[in-house]
Amino acid sequence: MENIGVNNKKEAKSFSYVKKNFYEAIDDKVSNLVDNFSKEYINFINDCKTEREVNSFLLKQALSCGYKEYNFGDDIKVNDKKVFNVRNKGLVLFKIGSEDIEKNGIRIVVAHIDSPRIDIKQVPLYESDGLCFFKTHYYGGIKKYQWTAIPLALHGVVVKKDGSKVDISIGEKEDEPVFYINDLLPHLGTAQMEQKAKSVISGEQLNIVVGGKPSYKDNDKEKIKSNILKILNEKYGMIEEDFLSSELSAVPAFKARNVGFDYSLIGGYGHDDRVCAYPAFKSILDTESEHTVICMLVDKEEIGSEGNTGMKSKVYEDLLEEICLSLNKNIRKVRANSMCISADVTAAFDANFPDVYEKTNAAMLSCGTCMNKFTGARGKSDSSDASAELVAKIRQIFEKYNVVWQTAELGKVDLGGGGTVAKYIANLNIDTIDIGVPVISMHAPYELISKADLYSTYQAFCAFFK
Ligand code: MN
Ligand code: MN
Repeated sequence: MENIGVNNKKEAKSFSYVKKNFYEAIDDKVSNLVDNFSKEYINFINDCKTEREVNSFLLKQALSCGYKEYNFGDDIKVNDKKVFNVRNKGLVLFKIGSEDIEKNGIRIVVAHIDSPRIDIKQVPLYESDGLCFFKTHYYGGIKKYQWTAIPLALHGVVVKKDGSKVDISIGEKEDEPVFYINDLLPHLGTAQMEQKAKSVISGEQLNIVVGGKPSYKDNDKEKIKSNILKILNEKYGMIEEDFLSSELSAVPAFKARNVGFDYSLIGGYGHDDRVCAYPAFKSILDTESEHTVICMLVDKEEIGSEGNTGMKSKVYEDLLEEICLSLNKNIRKVRANSMCISADVTAAFDANFPDVYEKTNAAMLSCGTCMNKFTGARGKSDSSDASAELVAKIRQIFEKYNVVWQTAELGKVDLGGGGTVAKYIANLNIDTIDIGVPVISMHAPYELISKADLYSTYQAFCAFFK
């Protein structure tokens, strides 16, 4: 790995721990690598806004880089590079190294590729007082009021009764229409503004405007709706009943952009957790290693890692088992000696809301990838809390490859909280720790990250795999 080392300035020996800013430690060469990696990443999040889109985009890329598609039961041997498609929503890449996995375990990085959004209900379409809408049910933890009065794009699939599938993506290209959730004008918003933020907009008010033009060519009672159905039939060959077997999501139609006069930040939808998934994917492609390494990109983290594509699914365990069986290794020994990075974002200290952070233990933007020894809330509830021994091992790895990194917890002890997939992996008797990119305005339609932290996270995962 050529580009892994940052040019460490010589420092005086000191007994104190001081957090480093990424830019203190790099030269122009690394600075160019940061810019190039950021450009690639921006294109990636613009092209892939749902787990299905990430899955198909990265599956193609993996295959073009020499990975072979894997199915359960296939033979696995040393030096194999395989990619496993989990129901078009999760993706696992693995490379079998020359080292004995019973002795040295497997190195695993897990990130999730679903993000908070507004899902469309199964009977969505209705007409009311001059407009046509979709009914929705939001996905993941959102502040509902943030999703009104912004341009939305629709992504997803419609599976017809005969099993044929129509991929839908509309609202991303300049000449395509976008969609919209109404909010109240301030002139009539006096009573609304008195309400608590969580009830300013209710779940049932998150209805998406999809049209407003009646057709008088036929005698339908609902003339806007019948016109929309006609358009849907022409464009996608679907009828209203096909919504029953569809998965459609509204996501912000914004493009990811550079933020700031110095271009140092990236604003975009769904950094959580594509900003870790992309470095995880790139690092397994780019790293030569004697270890056996796995990059897992999983679904459903935002709603509790449930279902057969989420981290709690047996499918990921089954894959580990298949690898061990095929290599004739004892899976219990392999798991006991493996290490995993649960690659997920953390909350960056926000100078506009300093009260919710304890600054000494907060993630600072541009101070590098961030380790959370534990997550959880109010007394570490629900956290797997990585061992000091594991943290020491990671320190060693990061020091060896000059990774600029920091450590943090999510907000003040009594206030904060949140979980990741770490605990589900740790439950398998695998040493697991959370490491990822600090984010400002997490779960908002437009989130903010630092390019330095994005690149440092890529370096961290390369170092871990190496
Ligand atoms: Mn996340
Ligand atoms: Mn999240």
